[in-house]
Amino acid sequence: MNTKRSEELYSKAKNYFPGGVNSPVRAFRSVGGTPRFIAKGKGSKIWDADGNEFLDFCASWGPLINGHAHEDVVNAISTTAANGTSFGAPTELENHLAELILSNNPYIEKMRFVSSGTEAVMSAIRLARGASGRKKILKFEGCYHGHSDSLLVKAGSGLVTFGNTSSAGVPEEFVKETVVVPLDNEAAVEAAFKEFPNEIACVIIEPIPANNGLLLQRKEFLTFLREICTRNGAYLLFDEVISGFRVGFTGAAGLYDIRPDIITYGKIIGGGLPVGAYGASAQLMSNISPEGGVYQAGTLSGNPVAMAAGIAQLSLCLQKDFYTNLEAKTKAFTATIRNYAAQKNYTLRIFETGSIFWIAFSNDEAIRTAEAIDPKSMEKFRVLYHYLLENGIYLGPSGYEVGFISSVHTEDELKRASEIFCAGLDRVFAS
Ligand SMILES: *Cc1c(COP(=O)(O)O)cnc(C)c1O
Repeated sequence: MNTKRSEELYSKAKNYFPGGVNSPVRAFRSVGGTPRFIAKGKGSKIWDADGNEFLDFCASWGPLINGHAHEDVVNAISTTAANGTSFGAPTELENHLAELILSNNPYIEKMRFVSSGTEAVMSAIRLARGASGRKKILKFEGCYHGHSDSLLVKAGSGLVTFGNTSSAGVPEEFVKETVVVPLDNEAAVEAAFKEFPNEIACVIIEPIPANNGLLLQRKEFLTFLREICTRNGAYLLFDEVISGFRVGFTGAAGLYDIRPDIITYGKIIGGGLPVGAYGASAQLMSNISPEGGVYQAGTLSGNPVAMAAGIAQLSLCLQKDFYTNLEAKTKAFTATIRNYAAQKNYTLRIFETGSIFWIAFSNDEAIRTAEAIDPKSMEKFRVLYHYLLENGIYLGPSGYEVGFISSVHTEDELKRASEIFCAGLDRVFAS
């Protein structure tokens, strides 16, 4: 495969950007090799700068549930942009997108649009702190919530810990307000509430943790979180930036039928443009400025182009049987690979929910915590990754990342892709 142009562009990019990229995983550090510079995307496929074609399972890390450059989305963007891209004043399209979401989502009553998932989570945490008058937040090891200071904190040693920063530049004082516990562990959460009575403003979790493998939680654990938050006057915050509109229109809240106090969205919500959102009950949202004392603002928040893209995308998602079809396609795809691996006795599990899947080189029936992922298994992923890339299949360049299937991946494409995956496994286990 010719990669000359990508190599040239990458070496140029290194003069402009740290590591040559504008977001770290793109640099291919965990799989090695040169990142492919993408020139074009249409439907389920992308083409790199050298003209190589790939069937795409990265979907820009999740947003593109209807594939690349979907006609409805592109039309909405261009028609809207022709009339101005942003005014810093309210527009009717904000109402439309909010109506579309709120009238189909019983878990939130009011919302606010922002411009990224990070911003949504950062604002939602401020809301929880502002409304509760408490400082501490409780998060789980293995969940990603964007790159705001309070959330770049990882577990230290011990069950309930103040953790360590996972980034330079985050003050100790911030870290002290973030309590980190393992997933799938009721006792750890109970211990945290016991250690910090009346101090925890909120418990934040990815109800479907999908940024560090796919760590599917037991429903009882999520139900337990709901109960312990209610009992202790803490808010339960579901970070649904990745699961929202992905496992169903109402995300994980709907899938598990659990009512969190605050929900954050991003990725799919903007149809491929930078949009995030957070929502809660009307009463809780009344704490947000200008109604209440919790300040939050944004120059480009709710801009008409992004709103139009979101409306087009979510309208497609609301079509009858959209999620049922997507899930059925995903199941057929993973079943082929799973059956092949079983027949060959390969050490492999595929975890999935809705149209999200994750390949783990493990024999464990369930992987529910960050700790349960064997770092050595990533060597195998690296081999698989490059085999797939060479054979026209693009995944996010890390074994800790999940894959996504879109509504425009055809059954034929998926069948062909599953065969290439199986051949890739032969390669992995031959070495
Ligand atoms: C992607 C993601 C974020 C961060 O969103 P950005 O738009 O990248 O800032 C936060 N939380 C979760 C669960 C995510 O998947």
